[in-house]
Amino acid sequence: MFLPRPYPDEVVGSLLHRAERQLGIGREQLLMRLTGHPLSSHSFLMTPYDGVAHAFGLSLEKFLREHTVLPYMTAFMPTGERRRAISALVDAHGRQGRTASLVRRSVTGKIWLRLCLSCVKEELKSFGESYWHRVHQVTGVEVCVKHDCNLCVTPLRISRDSGIPPPHEVFDYQSADLCISRATAAAVARASAEALWIVKDEDFLPLAYQNRVKDLGYVYMRSRTHGALLAHDLKAFFGEFYLDKYGCAIGTGRKGLWPAKLLHASGQHATTFKHILLRVFLDSTPTPSSSRVEFEGRRKPRPRDWHQIELDAITQLAAEVERHRAAGTRVSAADLYDLAHIRSIVRGHKGQIPQLMAWIEHFKMSPQSARIPGRRPRT
Ligand SMILES: [Zn+2]
Repeated sequence: MFLPRPYPDEVVGSLLHRAERQLGIGREQLLMRLTGHPLSSHSFLMTPYDGVAHAFGLSLEKFLREHTVLPYMTAFMPTGERRRAISALVDAHGRQGRTASLVRRSVTGKIWLRLCLSCVKEELKSFGESYWHRVHQVTGVEVCVKHDCNLCVTPLRISRDSGIPPPHEVFDYQSADLCISRATAAAVARASAEALWIVKDEDFLPLAYQNRVKDLGYVYMRSRTHGALLAHDLKAFFGEFYLDKYGCAIGTGRKGLWPAKLLHASGQHATTFKHILLRVFLDSTPTPSSSRVEFEGRRKPRPRDWHQIELDAITQLAAEVERHRAAGTRVSAADLYDLAHIRSIVRGHKGQIPQLMAWIEHFKMSPQSARIPGRRPRT
């Protein structure tokens, strides 16, 4: 079976749906003829079948590179890892859960197919029809990389559903609101297009990130990369809403500090989108938001020196009690707490101040202790 050559950046689902329309045959019949397998549906984003690639006049390798999300999924993997991922995909014929979940990760946070009105217009003029682009569907992309205009969200799911029409036949779309600045949206679109279109050699990525991050001043202890501050500033740059929407929220726990993890070999399993976010952020030439000292001070209060607190309080309280003894007056424990500003620590941190607590108990038994009236009769 020979079908017309795909359009630039056209995604496999778009090709198959068009073939179905052009040939006027059902999808099961088409898939049987292309793959030799009795399939009832096919992924919109990926194919492991030689027959599909050959029908469109391409080798499987070229087809995977130009018409599936595979290059995007593997863009930031070291060479060995990328090779393993590709063979796992092809060998498993896309049916394993792990493969399917990897493919889904490339469109995290995007359920609906997206189109660019300017692209549709140009394609209708040049080809008499329009098609679904890979670069409009991948995670976090909200503008067209070619036209720099907002993408439109359609009511059609990115799915194995049948009967998906070409973009020019979809009319109930909505222009997507940008969650980030236009310049940032354009930078994310460009970086995503690059991940799809340019084959890279990323074997030394963590080291390259580390050097760049240090050059920008995210450094502490003179030589280490300051991952926590980097994560903090990246979050401020994109905003929580955007990061949350596309599954990249930054928290305070180890998992939440994903920008810091990308700087190390352990980050090699991070999603492509996380790499894109880090790159776009680093390319904006950020300045660290605060000095290390301030930042650490804000994150973690310095541990209190409980022993010193006890000693200072006891000295102060003893002097006050002595004053009352000399004057022949009494003082309540509550007044003493206020005097030494220890009310909250006596209430909340008894365990940390055993010496002070013992001193207070001893004071309460002394003649200088004024007790709350009615609680205990004076003797
Ligand atoms: Zn466009």
